[in-house]
Amino acid sequence: MGCLFCNVLEKKVPADVIYEDEHAVAFRDIRPMAPTHALVIPRKHIAAIRALGDDEAATIGHVILAARNVAKQEGLEAGGYRLVINDGDAAGQTVHHIHVHLLGGRPLTWPPG
Ligand code: AMP
Ligand code: ZN
Repeated sequence: MGCLFCNVLEKKVPADVIYEDEHAVAFRDIRPMAPTHALVIPRKHIAAIRALGDDEAATIGHVILAARNVAKQEGLEAGGYRLVINDGDAAGQTVHHIHVHLLGGRPLTWPPG
């Protein structure tokens, strides 16, 4: 059993890809929770925030900047948006390849559930 999001990167699993660069890829979530709901992932397989090495600051930083680029591309900059990273069971992480949820296009309540 491979990693689902590595399979998306390798195009073994279809996805609606909306952004790609050297180190990150973004695609639409199959169960969108907002008018815009994209997942931004590093090309490098890292299972979770807790698994990040101290030498991987640039990798995760790049994913955040990619998410910002996608937000701009999706026209969310003016209205605002939210980035979410679930880490571990209590947070509801179901796919063990780091992904930043980009949510926008509607008012978002706080705190999240
Ligand atoms: P998380 O619960 O934070 O691990 O988020 C995993 C997300 O991946 C969920 O929002 C799912 O809807 C989404 N997801 C699962 N499989 C796919 C897929 N094949 N393509 C796009 N999104 C997916
Ligand atoms: Zn992976």
